[in-house]
Amino acid sequence: MKKNYRSIDYKTIEIYRDVSETDWNDWKWQLGHAIRDIPTLKQIIDIDKKLEADLENCLQTFKMAITPYYASLMDQDYDRGVIRLQAVPSIHELYVAADDQDDPLHEDVDSPVPGLTHRYPDRVLMLVTHICSMYCRHCTRRRMVGDRDAHLSHAQIDACIEYIRNHPEVRDVLLSGGDPFSLSDAGLEYILKSIREIDHVEIIRIGSRMPVVLPQRITNSLVSMLRKYHPLYVNTHFNHPDEITLEAKNACARLADGGIQLGNQTVLLRDVNDCPNIMKKLVHELLMIRVKPYYIYQCDLSSGISHFRTSITKGMEIIENLRGHTTGMAVPTFVVDAPGGGGKIPVMPNYLLSQSDRRFALRNYEGVITTYTQPEQVFSNCGRCNICREGPKEYKPLDGVAKLLSGDKLCLEPSGLVRRKR
Ligand code: SF4
Repeated sequence: MKKNYRSIDYKTIEIYRDVSETDWNDWKWQLGHAIRDIPTLKQIIDIDKKLEADLENCLQTFKMAITPYYASLMDQDYDRGVIRLQAVPSIHELYVAADDQDDPLHEDVDSPVPGLTHRYPDRVLMLVTHICSMYCRHCTRRRMVGDRDAHLSHAQIDACIEYIRNHPEVRDVLLSGGDPFSLSDAGLEYILKSIREIDHVEIIRIGSRMPVVLPQRITNSLVSMLRKYHPLYVNTHFNHPDEITLEAKNACARLADGGIQLGNQTVLLRDVNDCPNIMKKLVHELLMIRVKPYYIYQCDLSSGISHFRTSITKGMEIIENLRGHTTGMAVPTFVVDAPGGGGKIPVMPNYLLSQSDRRFALRNYEGVITTYTQPEQVFSNCGRCNICREGPKEYKPLDGVAKLLSGDKLCLEPSGLVRRKR
């Protein structure tokens, strides 16, 4: 099916009328002209006195940066515009809800070296920069993003690399920030090359919102550099189908043509995408631009973003409307990123209704209730092949419920269990 993608005619916006196409398509020009003040913003959207006062208030605490490209997607309807809700500061950001936290995911707590979080057994997160081309209003890392316009220093990056080198269990490195694509090609290549030189690192992943907010950043030279460091994956962050423009589609095509698999992480945001129909349109359009829907995140408990939060049941309702109703390729996993650093916990509708010794009563997306009968001999041969008997211990669970199932542990106990003290 041929789809006509929305293309931005930026010259219809008065302040960009005289901007050349060369400048407009130059990501450095876009970065240099990011909207950071109210007078410039007023030239793009209608701002009444009340909103102006709110913005002034808000900008005393939080920074604003909106790329001209993303700003050009805004319509004039401030109250319902899904683009501007994500880009323009709101007075609600100054409200700190009772359960809000600066670092709800404990990324700084689980950080053995500045800039690196080691939470899961086999992978690490490197926050390589504090800079983004746009400061998303719902950002979970608002504690650090935009607080100072800086990338990690060479010394800090080298310390992170050294940590990875000294931890042979790390097979997967995720670069995030800030936005790693806000680094120069050379700056990013220094990091990728250093990581690739470490034998035990198998894959590298990059999280970037550039394909959404600054697709001009995805240049041919960036892709040529990235493709030297395969296997390399990019996860991006489209939240609404209105963000899928011709420019965004072409940026994703350049990455995909470079052999880079693309995934998408959507944050569930009130008034932006908290609707099963919007989400279905989004996941379909993502597949059309060669991006696999990967996660839908329940909005985190970061300070000042409670106005974006929905109920968890809204996420379950969205999955109910996707699973079975469309291809499994289009169905992301809905997760709550556990406050306190517990990691991503999938949440979904209940498809298992009941069970006996041998039979499971299951229901499908149509409401059909069916049974699956287990074989009489249910014990599998798992544990007898070479991977289990002689393979490296990295394939065995280090902890958690999986360790109970493997028989290596009898029970899991909370620390400080009162009855243990008796
Ligand atoms: S691009 Fe990502 S890290 Fe940067 S402000 Fe947006 S959500 Fe936060």
